Amino acid sequence: MPVIPPSLLPTDGRFGAGPSRVRHEQLSALCHGGPALLGTSHRQAPVKDLVARIQQRLGAFFSLPEGYEIVLGLGGASTFWDSAAFGLVRSRAEHLAFGEFGAKFASVTQRAPFLEPPVVVEAPAGSRPDGPRVIPGVDVYAWPQNETSTGVAMPVRRVPADGALTVVDATSAAGGMAVDLAQTDVYYFSPQKNFGSDGGIWFAAFSPAALERVADVAASGRWIPDVLSLATAVENSRRHQTYNTPALAGLVLLDAQLGWLEERGGLEWAARRTAETSGLVYEWAERSDVARPFVADPAHRSPVVCTVDFDAAVDAARVAAVLRANGVVDVEPYRKLGRNQLRIATFVAVPPEDVRALLECIDWTVAALG
Ligand SMILES: *Cc1c(COP(=O)(O)O)cnc(C)c1O
Repeated sequence: MPVIPPSLLPTDGRFGAGPSRVRHEQLSALCHGGPALLGTSHRQAPVKDLVARIQQRLGAFFSLPEGYEIVLGLGGASTFWDSAAFGLVRSRAEHLAFGEFGAKFASVTQRAPFLEPPVVVEAPAGSRPDGPRVIPGVDVYAWPQNETSTGVAMPVRRVPADGALTVVDATSAAGGMAVDLAQTDVYYFSPQKNFGSDGGIWFAAFSPAALERVADVAASGRWIPDVLSLATAVENSRRHQTYNTPALAGLVLLDAQLGWLEERGGLEWAARRTAETSGLVYEWAERSDVARPFVADPAHRSPVVCTVDFDAAVDAARVAAVLRANGVVDVEPYRKLGRNQLRIATFVAVPPEDVRALLECIDWTVAALG
């Protein structure tokens, strides 16, 4: 296996799309602040205060509009899809499906026996639909702001349909892409991407209309499993708690990342930084003789997940294997996409100098294998 000259290597070799790099300072926060919290009751003040601080910091970070609330629950974004099918969709959802994650949520409401079949607006991998189609009877419009499997970004704009909710999967976008929450009713994410925390939990900003919907559906008599109940999640979140026991270490890591983002200038800074780092990757791919951005339309390219296709002459899987053997990991493409591709996450914790180093390492490896 070729050995990349150490002088070319990034200081941190983690470029995965989730779980993603956890900064050393977050780990120190865990070592220093953790002992007072880890192994103590999540029903007592120290952990409840931590949850309250996270809710307050998320609210400030996202400039939470009046009346919106930060809700949390266990299980992550995938669990949120089931919770939404049970507790947010009244009868029919519409999904924009232009990659794995948007399609997965669509398949959840598709199989829910108490819902009408959803409307699914599709677009091939690497592109995106023009936008949602307003259809009478649809009461939830859903799409990912960033389709992590393909590296395609989608605008977040409220669907002009009376009484319908706009529900955005921000799992890989939140913390690294600009957003106006007033354009959404539910903006949900797991924290193991830009927020560099652990998975297994979801956070969401709920609008007053979304909170009302949750209460309505809960009162409708539909059977909703306790662990998936959004009404229960809302009620617990107001008390800075979760229905069942959360992983406390992840909360400490998330709080540390929010503090770090706050010091640097919040969401505006984060969005500028990911625009810069992703720009380095796309410019490099445009210049390359053997590679090109997978997403053809520059306006559709994600600032946090960069997908780069290679000519058949270069075996991208082999490049990824060499990088991995040299400690530069998780640039393999999304497994089900099946392309000769590398996928590079430029989440907010990844500094420009590491991206430059990664690109040099890729050039070096392609030359060494050629
Ligand atoms: C990672 C990801 C998910 C899945 O998150 P889990 O926490 O593993 O459930 C869902 N949607 C998007 C857009 C993602 O990037």
